[in-house]
Amino acid sequence: MQVAEINSEVTPPKDHLGAIAGQVNSIRETFAGGRSKDYQWRVQQLKLIKKMTLAEQENILEAMKKDLNKGTMESWLSEIGSVVSEVDHSIKHLKKWMKPRKVSTPMVAQPAKSYMLPEPLGTVLVIGAWNYPLLLVLGPLIAAVSAGNCAVIKPSELASNVSNLLARIVPQYLDKEAFIVVEGAVEETSELLKQKFDHIIYTGGEAVGKIVMRAAAENLTPVTLELGGKSPCIVDNSADIEVTAARIVWSKWMNAGQTCVAPDYVLIDKSLADKLISAIKGKLSEFYGSDVAQSQDYGRIINERHSARLASYLGGQNVVHGGTVDIAEKFIEPTIVMDPDLDSSLMKEEIFGPILPIIPLDNIDTAIPFVNGRAKPLALYAYTKDSAYEQQVLNQTSAGMVCINDGFMFAANSNLPFGGVGSSGMGAYHGKIGFDNFSHLKTVMKRSFMFDLDLRYPPFTDKKLSLIKKIL
Ligand code: NAD
Repeated sequence: MQVAEINSEVTPPKDHLGAIAGQVNSIRETFAGGRSKDYQWRVQQLKLIKKMTLAEQENILEAMKKDLNKGTMESWLSEIGSVVSEVDHSIKHLKKWMKPRKVSTPMVAQPAKSYMLPEPLGTVLVIGAWNYPLLLVLGPLIAAVSAGNCAVIKPSELASNVSNLLARIVPQYLDKEAFIVVEGAVEETSELLKQKFDHIIYTGGEAVGKIVMRAAAENLTPVTLELGGKSPCIVDNSADIEVTAARIVWSKWMNAGQTCVAPDYVLIDKSLADKLISAIKGKLSEFYGSDVAQSQDYGRIINERHSARLASYLGGQNVVHGGTVDIAEKFIEPTIVMDPDLDSSLMKEEIFGPILPIIPLDNIDTAIPFVNGRAKPLALYAYTKDSAYEQQVLNQTSAGMVCINDGFMFAANSNLPFGGVGSSGMGAYHGKIGFDNFSHLKTVMKRSFMFDLDLRYPPFTDKKLSLIKKIL
């Protein structure tokens, strides 16, 4: 799906396009100088990311309020707190991650020591998306710094207040010679993509993901693509409907549905659909009150264009809850659509907003084929008490991430990779997986000068061959 857009809301700093090559080069020179490889430097920069996030939290909260009407609790839960805990996790484990990783050596290469030595890739380009404008920039940055890289950061122009803030505070706190924030939109990103990087991590839609990958191919730069797609939510007949409803509401309507891993649609047996809808309505009113527009905890759509896109999805659909749209206010009420037309935009594109289609099935057994008939999702949710069904879902479907009996709680575990598969992305980060993603695991074998058997050297004989056959 294509939700990336050229926007007119941001005021790019006028340093400007011509300066970008020089800026990237200066960061590359810092990397070449070697200081980012040092363990102490990495820890210091990680601590400074945390210090910046905590010291600037009032400004961050204000910027997020302006960009997405995010409340304090939500901003803390999903962005500030996540940055802080990811820093803590990385500092705690960094020494271990950086160590050589020993492996055994086969007889044929003995005597020798074999290991993998993690080394930083160099200068990383971090291109962020607007929906979690702090986390989607600082999360990849934490992984890149842990692995000893320098970085160029390009926040999303659509969340312009957070972008402006990052451009101001990153140089105040972090090593100015190792990190730079480049603000702007398509022109600036395109200029950045012409430069030589050692890795690019891009978060955003599929269409721009292809642009990024094409540009990266010119320099043979490896990419991590954190994309999106339609993440299904299967509610099995055995599920606890009340708890399921609460967790669906939490994961769907956080950030007004603008979460890459939000459940996009629900698959449920038709006999249970009304019960689930009624439970979801109950939770919506419990969480957001009778007038959602007045709730401090309900977000707004990023801009009018996306509000209009979402509103257009509702045309001709069977709206059984919500449906109020105020494009000027960027407000869309939590909305439930029953039995949507599967050929409509609502079901063809990633919704990325507060509309939840419920698809009633004649038999829940058709849920897995339904999922498998579509692109591999970023996340897949299954609510079930039936462990055989759980195994069936796990074994018969493919998705970047799966949560059984909840929404995107996996994102809170730094030990788990965060990333997609197929058209929902490639590569992953968080914790050690993030460290590895921004490292090269250099193969090292150290041999001894002793026992220099002539077996492998010409001239070859039948005797040597038969010995080789025994050893290999
Ligand atoms: P966006 O509009 O903020 O774009 C992302 C970045 O791409 C921005 O920095 C932007 O400047 C840049 N960009 C946009 N158009 C470009 C172009 N033509 N050339 C070069 N760069 C360009 O974000 P979006 O695309 O609207 O993001 C929404 C999508 O991101 C959804 O599909 C969502 O699921 C996905 N997403 C994925 C994750 C994840 O972690 N997997 C997280 C958040 C969002």
